[in-house]
Amino acid sequence: MACGARVAQASLFRLHVEEADGEAQVVFDEPGELRTGRGAYLCRRRVCLERALKKRVFSRVFRRTVMIKEEELRGSLVALLNTTSEECGR
Ligand SMILES: [Zn+2]
Repeated sequence: MACGARVAQASLFRLHVEEADGEAQVVFDEPGELRTGRGAYLCRRRVCLERALKKRVFSRVFRRTVMIKEEELRGSLVALLNTTSEECGR
């Protein structure tokens, strides 16, 4: 989405829009969460999230105005990366 790298979808993180209090907020999918609706895909690299935030690509991908909580997204990505590397190390 952000860097245009061609990688398998399985190796990407997916984000979706969550409706809360009348606002559309972009959040990462939880591992194992049912993947429905429109999604945005992001490499498992922090630099790609930063690039996506900087370029404001989310509104374009979701074709609507969305709310971006940058700090929350950064935290989610770090948590997801930690989970992933733990699983890979076993
Ligand atoms: Zn990327």
